[in-house]
Amino acid sequence: MRQTGRHFLQIPGPSAVPDRILRAIDMPVIDHRGPGFADLGFRVLNGMQGIFKTTAPVIIYPASGTGAWEAALVNVLSAGDRVLMFETGHFASLWSKLAAKYQLKPELIDTDWRRGADPNLLEDALRADNTHEIKAVCVVHNETSTGCTARIAELRQAIDAANHPALFMVDTISGLAAADFQFDNWGVDIAVSGSQKGLMLPPGLSFNAVSEKAMAAGRHSDLPKSYWDWTEMRDANERGYFPYTPATNLLYGLAEAIDMINEEGLENLFVRHQRHAAATRAAVEAWGLDIQCQVESEYSPVLTAVRTPDGHSADALRGTVLEHYNMSLGNGLAKVADQVFRIGHLGDFNDLMLMGTLSGIEMGLHLAGIPHHTGGAQKAMDFLKATPANSQN
Ligand SMILES: *Cc1c(COP(=O)(O)O)cnc(C)c1O
Repeated sequence: MRQTGRHFLQIPGPSAVPDRILRAIDMPVIDHRGPGFADLGFRVLNGMQGIFKTTAPVIIYPASGTGAWEAALVNVLSAGDRVLMFETGHFASLWSKLAAKYQLKPELIDTDWRRGADPNLLEDALRADNTHEIKAVCVVHNETSTGCTARIAELRQAIDAANHPALFMVDTISGLAAADFQFDNWGVDIAVSGSQKGLMLPPGLSFNAVSEKAMAAGRHSDLPKSYWDWTEMRDANERGYFPYTPATNLLYGLAEAIDMINEEGLENLFVRHQRHAAATRAAVEAWGLDIQCQVESEYSPVLTAVRTPDGHSADALRGTVLEHYNMSLGNGLAKVADQVFRIGHLGDFNDLMLMGTLSGIEMGLHLAGIPHHTGGAQKAMDFLKATPANSQN
């Protein structure tokens, strides 16, 4: 049957692509080696430095986020290197599996998937490595499977407190342009990101921001690389070009996304995401449901993962919401499969879209027979009324 109105794509990435970006992408492909291309190249390469809050080079790959994960590892590490990772959720665990396939030795610090990486545990682990065999610390900034963030500045302080030279790599695939991220101030060596979450683009682009220390480490790395090689990218990027065919039309979209983010202002954008996350939690608490993240200071501004009561299927709820209200919610991944549903409140989003989302969930909880209290959407509305946005959100 025909579904009327817009589909609500409330998964935590891909996020809904605004019309302005769709129109920017809808352009003829140009010669990526022609004289006009460098304008576009410089626009996106320089623009992304602003989004990462860095003066360091940003590499742009025609790949999903997974490609940029791989690039971060293969450009600086060598076979047999130890890498310290935190098992904070599904994405952290996938990154460690990727590392193992490259003959690296990932060492995982376990968590219960209800909090971000712990700076104290990091400091202890690095102090114990007094011969400095750990070559990199890898952390997920915003764990999209759990809705917990990691306190990146404090993790950097832990590395410094242990006086350890390991490279600090951060996956901010779903964090960037939604949760504050400060590459330079926080002393990150390699950041990894993707196009389809806070950046509001379709999937297909990914990024590495690369510190000088990481560039220098690259000279001693012996892992094989060709497509992901930063040095060839840098040589071409310095002239505004790419060593192989870039995703030209996604770059048009990226230039538009950067303009949109700068028009709103990054700091306003972060406040907007936090406000929508807080309104969402007000609804969840009123429903009497459990938020997956248990540390208040680590609540994600990007998404909220909600646990359904024992014996009640989160996937059945998602199916009901899709069937009746034409809305997609994120599923529980790996060890929280069917126990969790995830509400994306990121990207090009406003108060009424949030209210539509929460109303659909509240009606879905009823139809799916999940025990809950009504009035969650009302609580979110009360919160939004009491904390007016400073812009037209
Ligand atoms: C989406 C996501 C990934 C995977 O990115 P792909 O674009 O699907 O390859 C990795 N890490 C995090 C934190 C993500 O949110």
